[in-house]
Amino acid sequence: MLKSKASSNATDQRNTTRLRVLDQIRATRAISRIDIATALDTSPATITSATADLLSAGLIQETEGEPQSKSARRGRPRVLLKLHGGCHIIAGVKVARHQISVILVDFEGTEIASYTHPLDEARMAPEAFTRTIRSALDLACGAANHSLTDLSGVCIGIAGLIDAEKNFVHWSSSLTERNVDLSPLLSKALPCPAFIENDANLVAKAEQLFGLGKGLKTFLVVTIEHGIGLGIVFDGKLYRGERGCGAEFGHLKVQLDGALCQCGQRGCLEAYVGEYALIREATIASQMTDPKTLSDILSAAQAGDTRSISVLSRAGQMFGMGLSNLINLFDPECIILSGTRGSFEYLHSEEVMARVKSGVVSVDAPLPEIKVNHWGDSMWAKGAAAYGIEQVSILKVRELAANAN
Ligand SMILES: [Zn+2]
Repeated sequence: MLKSKASSNATDQRNTTRLRVLDQIRATRAISRIDIATALDTSPATITSATADLLSAGLIQETEGEPQSKSARRGRPRVLLKLHGGCHIIAGVKVARHQISVILVDFEGTEIASYTHPLDEARMAPEAFTRTIRSALDLACGAANHSLTDLSGVCIGIAGLIDAEKNFVHWSSSLTERNVDLSPLLSKALPCPAFIENDANLVAKAEQLFGLGKGLKTFLVVTIEHGIGLGIVFDGKLYRGERGCGAEFGHLKVQLDGALCQCGQRGCLEAYVGEYALIREATIASQMTDPKTLSDILSAAQAGDTRSISVLSRAGQMFGMGLSNLINLFDPECIILSGTRGSFEYLHSEEVMARVKSGVVSVDAPLPEIKVNHWGDSMWAKGAAAYGIEQVSILKVRELAANAN
């Protein structure tokens, strides 16, 4: 039966309220109904109805708070609402070049287990990619005495241009093909809903929820690993662009017809700063034999190899120029540089910061703070799990509405 537009609008409105209530409970950990009503500027009756729905779906539970009156022993304990951690298990997955990191969390985001799976191939055909994700998840669940069917959702972070709403990959350095709709392949490979998201966006989400971005409205996260990624949190929300192709900081052009980038174009920032670019240049220029990894170049530079020093210093200057462009464009509260400890010090040296300063349009106000956060792959996966929790919440609230009709 066709639903009328008015009834569908009312359902949307109820779902929005349920999700806002769920977010408020998540943000505060435990909160009373009346405090939710105040925080959301909504009537207590609306909140009572929304929380009843969430309770019946098992997404939240009641818990006892402190008595309302400290002096009176007979003061009734306040009834608070908290998330029901055990109601769902969600997996966050980060696909890097040489490994897949998996983290299993409960609905509250508490870690149940984490697992690392080595990768033989950095680039895979789409079917091999989803098969590999499945076996990594199988092993991760098995190690935690769970099975794949226990999962309510999986969020997978990969580098590249991703339309997260459609699970569509325009381009990724993890896939051998362009324009891949991963939805049918993921449905075939996994028994639960799966969501694909750009990995830098997941780090931005993790920074916003648990890291240096907590409480900030507008900030940028630049991720540094094999490539360079950017997550934009604008007015408290992730900004993805209309087609999911925004925030491609690594492919910002810094040189007309410059070095060849792995995206196929020339002159991208990543073609000067990405690990592959450094290895390419150091292979030609270094006095040492065939650097295989960034740490080979870093060690050579530390040992005084002048050409390795020059490769890193040029990368730093290009990066500094890129950061000043970001500041000129966004004027953010802060920029967080995120990567593995010991791997990108040359990208936030004093010389790089001087380059940033010289590239920012000069005003009589201090520059946005540039902070450094050292995160390993497990934290990327944690961001993926946070996004997974959000998506599972949306699905479960939609199911609630569908069951009520
Ligand atoms: Zn590029």
